[in-house]
Amino acid sequence: MMRPSMRQPNQMRPVSMETGVNKWAEGSCLIKMGGTQVLCTASVDLNQPLWKRVQNKTGGWVTAEYSMLPRACGTRKGRDAIMKDHRSAEISRLIGRALRSVVDMDALGRHTITIDCDVIQADGGTRCASITGGFVALMLAVRWLMQNGRISQNPVREHVAAISAGLWNGELVLDLDYDEDCAAELDSNFVVSESGRFVEIQATGEQHPFDAAQISKLMEMAAAGCQKLIDLQKQVLE
Ligand code: UDP
Repeated sequence: MMRPSMRQPNQMRPVSMETGVNKWAEGSCLIKMGGTQVLCTASVDLNQPLWKRVQNKTGGWVTAEYSMLPRACGTRKGRDAIMKDHRSAEISRLIGRALRSVVDMDALGRHTITIDCDVIQADGGTRCASITGGFVALMLAVRWLMQNGRISQNPVREHVAAISAGLWNGELVLDLDYDEDCAAELDSNFVVSESGRFVEIQATGEQHPFDAAQISKLMEMAAAGCQKLIDLQKQVLE
């Protein structure tokens, strides 16, 4: 059966990343993956986080916050700042871990970079788009630190991107949109680095348990998808 979007199983949605979309942030990127749109900003704090200062730790830190606007989805959702949202808290932590995995904290110096990912419109894969777009915002903020003479060496070791994949209608497919996500038997998210290695894998057998072979195939599809996303990140960062 054809995917609702008529895509091939390993075909991702059209992707765009636009930089410099915020006048104030040291780094910003608006990422669109099909109907999913996320505004990512990177804010530089010229200091370590409090916990590092208190514990006499070296180096800097990268952290992230994720939130969905009320009408990002089909029915109005309460604002995170007012209605506590555990899903957003979990996704914020995932984004932070993904971005930290490619940054040398000592080379970052005593600085904190906060990546804010605000979902303007959600159509599946918002956490993955946040990681992919958040990385671009992070790179721009790192560039800002270097241009301002705060650090001499690039602390970012390699690129990182993320994509969803799953088992939909008995078929392994890449980059699920909301219609597919709702009906997926297996729903997963893959964070992959430029060197083709995995940073984090989230996989859930939504309707029944799954096999290792299925994950293995999805890993392959996701790695190829992330390489395309990384190529695009490189283009917009040129
Ligand atoms: N979604 C929604 N309202 C919510 C949470 C999710 O409409 O409160 C939709 C949205 O389109 C989202 C999709 O469900 O992209 C899948 O959500 P999931 O929690 O799997 O995260 P995502 O795939 O966006 O990373």
